[in-house]
Amino acid sequence: MIKAAVAPAARVLLACGVVLCGLRLAAHSEQAAEPLAVSEAAAGAFMHTEALALMTRANGGGIANIGFVVGNDAVAVIDTGGSVREGRRLLAAVRARTDKPIRYIISTHAHPDHIFGHAAFENEGAEFVGHRNLPRALTMRGQFYLDAYRRSMGQEIMADVKIIPPTRLIDGTGNLDLGARTLTLQAWPTAHTDNDLTVLDEHSGTLFAGDLVVAQHVPVLDGSILGWLKVMDKLALMQPKRILPGHGPIIDNWQDALAQQRRYLERLTRDVRSLISRGAPISAAARSAGEAEKDRWSLFEEYNARNATAAFAELEWE
Ligand SMILES: [Zn+2]
Repeated sequence: MIKAAVAPAARVLLACGVVLCGLRLAAHSEQAAEPLAVSEAAAGAFMHTEALALMTRANGGGIANIGFVVGNDAVAVIDTGGSVREGRRLLAAVRARTDKPIRYIISTHAHPDHIFGHAAFENEGAEFVGHRNLPRALTMRGQFYLDAYRRSMGQEIMADVKIIPPTRLIDGTGNLDLGARTLTLQAWPTAHTDNDLTVLDEHSGTLFAGDLVVAQHVPVLDGSILGWLKVMDKLALMQPKRILPGHGPIIDNWQDALAQQRRYLERLTRDVRSLISRGAPISAAARSAGEAEKDRWSLFEEYNARNATAAFAELEWE
């Protein structure tokens, strides 16, 4: 990474005069981000997958899968990663493939690992697109996210990160035209969060699922467990050819991925309901609900107790 950034800078140094050098180097370093590695899952549909992890100083917030789609006239970016540094590398990956304008920056939901890179695209003249509930989520949580991740990831990584509210909202379904290539956006009822948005590239049958569907990474409940199960009934009717989950490897067996996620969410629901019916406290749910799923998911220890607590709070009022 350092080698690639230094070599062109050294060329600038040799080519420029003394006075302009500092300025030109500063401008250059802005643009010199190493392109993120992306795979072209289908012609014009690009995906970047990350390791399953929590956001840390070491990984610079890079844990979510992100991507972009190139049409005849324009580009849409789907999520921008967990830091502006990662966003700049995504921008570099786009620019390594096309000089068409980036017309849309789409947020699949409000979580920081998906939106902290947005500021890297601020000067592209793009519209920022999100679920109709996204502005509320950003208002309620945005400052908390910034403060929390300044503490955990450090000021340097967080320096340029800011919350950018959407300029175009999706209620129900909406289409974005990239030039002979249409993206169909679906704003879902409350499931993983209350602002989940999926993006289907109709041309290639590629679905960017956000965290509504994850693979290997334990599902994270920040919305409604019963709502999520209902949304999954509808997702099962879709027939995408390939799917980029919010976390985990690219999915080619859609029904299998949904079945695994359903098994976890149903197990958690059953366990929590059983504890509630026996009068057990919420702390018991955090300790034991969903434990049978423990060995099937990455980051189970990190998220399951929280999921069980959220499910308990939802289900105790049934
Ligand atoms: Zn999420």
